[in-house]
Amino acid sequence: MIIGCHVNFTSEQLLGSTKQAILYGANAFMFYTGAPQNTIRKNLDEQLTKEAHKLMQENNIELKNVICHAPYIINLANNLSEEKWQFSVQFLKQELERCKLLGISYIVVHPGSAVGIEKSIALQNISDALNLIIKEDYPMILLETMAGKGTECGCTLEEIATILEKVHSKYIGVCIDTCHLNDAGYNVEKFDDLLNEIDETIGLKKVHCVHLNDSKNVLGSHKDRHENLGLGTIGFEALLHVVENEKLKDVPKILETPYIDREYPPYKFEIASLKTKTENKNLIQDIIDYYK
Ligand code: FE
Ligand code: FE
Ligand code: ZN
Repeated sequence: MIIGCHVNFTSEQLLGSTKQAILYGANAFMFYTGAPQNTIRKNLDEQLTKEAHKLMQENNIELKNVICHAPYIINLANNLSEEKWQFSVQFLKQELERCKLLGISYIVVHPGSAVGIEKSIALQNISDALNLIIKEDYPMILLETMAGKGTECGCTLEEIATILEKVHSKYIGVCIDTCHLNDAGYNVEKFDDLLNEIDETIGLKKVHCVHLNDSKNVLGSHKDRHENLGLGTIGFEALLHVVENEKLKDVPKILETPYIDREYPPYKFEIASLKTKTENKNLIQDIIDYYK
């Protein structure tokens, strides 16, 4: 079972992220190289990176299961301002350079939002941007399936497929997010059918990361509000099936569930419940008791 969660990129950089992942009992993790909502980035410290790699090795965390997430202010879809679009392209390239220095294999990117332009043009813009960015000696870009909030692109499997078709390189993949799929109208409770649909549209081999989240909202709500495992509309059993699915057994599952009371990370307890295949019916109280 390759299971982990979102962790912080601390003052100790990747070493700090690795330490956090170990405390949560994770053998995979995902991080942003700085604040997700801005583009301010500190220089990377080579020594800390080396120490992080060593600590990963000692704790059975394979580098291929350590994923970066690009900041969500990057928008490759809208080019009403050519300057802003170029900035997104340049910034993503810079993130890829940073990830390369960190030894990372995959970076998750949100396709972007159309905001004021036609969807078909927005999808073309995303492919155009990717054609400028993708290089095989960079980490691989994984486009994330989105919930369809506002004018988000990539909220249907067909939209993702359309973007991929227009990318010249085969060196590109996909990250599926269970909350986003649910909110976009795909039934995660019938996961085998959904995997077949994914295989027919984008190809299962393209999926290199799963974001494992329950959802606060019903199927097809187009909301994108993550919920702790078992406390949302998808439910623990369905999410456990995602983790146990043979077809995705080599793909890291990353939790992006909300902190309890905005303060206490739920991951140690959620990971434990997945490992033991038993829902923790006392999840919130256990977390509060542990951290208080
Ligand atoms: Fe995301
Ligand atoms: Fe996600
Ligand atoms: Zn989300």
